[in-house]
This record gives sequence, structure tokens and C-alpha cells, in this order.
Amino acid sequence: MNEVLIVGEDICQQVVGQADAFAAVEAVFAAMHRGEARNFPVVREALGHAEALYGFKSGFDRAGHVLGVKSGGYWPGNIERGLTNHQSTVFLFDPDTGQLSALVGGNYLTAVRTAASSAVSIAYLARKDARVLGMVGAGHQSTFQLRAAAVQRAFEKVVAWNPHPEMLPRLAAVAEELGLEFEAVSPQELGAQADVIITITSAFEPLLQADWIRPGTHLACMGTDTKGKMEVDPALLAKATVFTDEVAQSVTIGEAQHAVAQGLIRADDVTPIGAVINGNHPGRGKDADITLFDGTGVGLQDLAVASVAVQLASQRGLAGRAAL
Ligand code: NAD
Repeated sequence: MNEVLIVGEDICQQVVGQADAFAAVEAVFAAMHRGEARNFPVVREALGHAEALYGFKSGFDRAGHVLGVKSGGYWPGNIERGLTNHQSTVFLFDPDTGQLSALVGGNYLTAVRTAASSAVSIAYLARKDARVLGMVGAGHQSTFQLRAAAVQRAFEKVVAWNPHPEMLPRLAAVAEELGLEFEAVSPQELGAQADVIITITSAFEPLLQADWIRPGTHLACMGTDTKGKMEVDPALLAKATVFTDEVAQSVTIGEAQHAVAQGLIRADDVTPIGAVINGNHPGRGKDADITLFDGTGVGLQDLAVASVAVQLASQRGLAGRAAL
């Protein structure tokens, strides 16, 4: 008999904090760069049913002893059913035997691991004296992004813009809770004021132009995770030092796909953030440089935080058990 641990959405929220996710994501980016963890090819298909996109992200982290798959996708009709549009579940397997070891809710973990990814980029690449955080996007992910970024520098103010301005009050409420001044601004004004910018939208056209961005800015572009999506002017990637979670994804489904396709940069101009974490790349050069992190979202991030959820839930006696 094989015993499987079950950690549902509520327990994940209860046990996995922002700092846990940061540590797990930082460690797995480092392991990826050392060649000790790798993501397997992503499957993502239109189902031809319920307008849904469905797929798998999987990988193996030898350093962390974590093997698994996140399965799920996007069901646009869910909102009318009172459910989140993005739905996912993580399956973890024992790397020694292949037996299923845990089933973990993936919705909260997706948000917290995505926020951890941009937070890692801010920790390693933003100027130390950054004080103004710019937020482009105000959907589900945006509040997780704001919370995780806020602890990385001594931010004093949030400037925000969203293509749908009626969504901004949710960000304003979180900024207020964090004790940060909040101002809704135009995208040009956002570029003029922000030291760090996070983009987290479903855009297919550039929302920020290259000449709106000041020298010294760090951008974490987190929304582009599919072919065709785009959040910033490709010319900005040519001006910036570009980093990513995984180069293969960055140049095919990430923000860098357009700059590479237009011949503005090459794949080898894009540095994995793991190289900076491991001390093999200096990261930001001068204070006046623009750094841009292309956060595409890799399966190993999901597995890393799911593994932490299982460990913490087990330690606290909160994991369910089922025989398989
Ligand atoms: P959401 O549906 O809750 O919010 C969507 C956001 O995009 C809002 O700010 C909305 O105003 C904006 N938007 C919607 N349509 C747009 C359009 N046509 N042009 C410009 N902006 C538009 O979504 P969410 O859960 O907050 O996710 C935001 C984005 O982040 C999505 O594109 C999602 O695929 C992506 N995402 C990336 C990762 C990653 O690891 N990189 C992880 C999770 C989600």
C-alpha cells in the first residue's frame, strides 16, 4: 500500500508564507543554474471545451530531491461559477520509486511562487536605494506581487497603472495595509517615478515604451508566459541587462520572445538569475543600468513550493492521508 499525503488549498495558505516561497524559489533557481534541477518540456493545449487551456509543467530537482508535475490551466467560465479561472494541482512523486507521494492544491502556490520569483529578482538586481515601486496590473496575481516586493527594499510609495482602472482599488488597499503611499498614475508617469516596476497583466501589446523608463530602473516582467503575449516595448530589452528564470522559456514564451524574433537581442544576451544567485554573474553593473527580469514561470518553482507545503503541513499534523 502506498500512503499519499494530501495538502489542500486552505492548508497551503495556512503553512506557506512569503518567506518560505522566496527561499524555495531562490534555491531552485540556483539548482537549475548548477545543472542539478531541470524542467521538462511544457505541454499546453486548447481543449476545445469550455474555452479551456490545459497543460502540464514538470521537472526534477536532484538537489532538493523533488520530482513532480503541476497539472491545470485556465477555464474562463469559472468566474461565473464562483471559482478561480486558473486551476491547478501539484502531484509529487518519490524520486527513488516513482510512487505518488503527495497531492497539493496549486492555486495559492502559483500566486505565491510567482510573487517570490519577482521578489528574488528585486533582491538581487534592484538598486539598494529603490524607494518607489511601480505596479502595472491589478488582477489576482498583483496583490501577491506587491506584498512580496514590498519587503525587498525600503519602499515608501507605490505608483500604479492598469488598463482596467476600476481594478486598482484592490492594490491601493494592500498598499495602505503595508503602510505605503499609493498613487494611480499614467504609464508614462509610472516610468518617470518608479525605481522598480512589476508588470503582471495579460497584455498582447506593449504597455510601457522604452523611453519612458529611467536609467537605474529594475523591471520584473511577470505576465508574459505564452507565445504572443507582450508587456513592454521590445526595444527596452535591447537597452536593459536581461535576466530570466529559464532562458529556453524566456526566448520562446517570455517577454524576450519579441526582442529575439526582431533581432534586437540574442538568446545568449539573456542571463539565468541562478547565475547571479550562485555568484557567477555580477547582476546589476552600474547604478544607472536598467535591469529586466523576464519571469516566465517554470514547473520547478511549483514543485519547490509544493514540497515546502507538504513538509510544513506534515510537521504541523495538517496533511491528510489516503491509501493508494
Ligand atoms: P487576472 O485575470 O486576475 O488579471 C489580468 C490583468 O491583466 C489585469 O491587470 C487586467 O487589467 C489585465 N488585462 C486583461 N486583459 C488585458 C489586455 N488585453 N491587455 C492588457 N492588459 C490586460 O490575471 P492574473 O491571475 O493576475 O494573471 C496576470 C497575468 O500573469 C496573466 O497573463 C497570467 O497568465 C500571468 N501569470 C504569469 C505567471 C508566471 O509565472 N510568469 C504566473 C501566473 C500568472
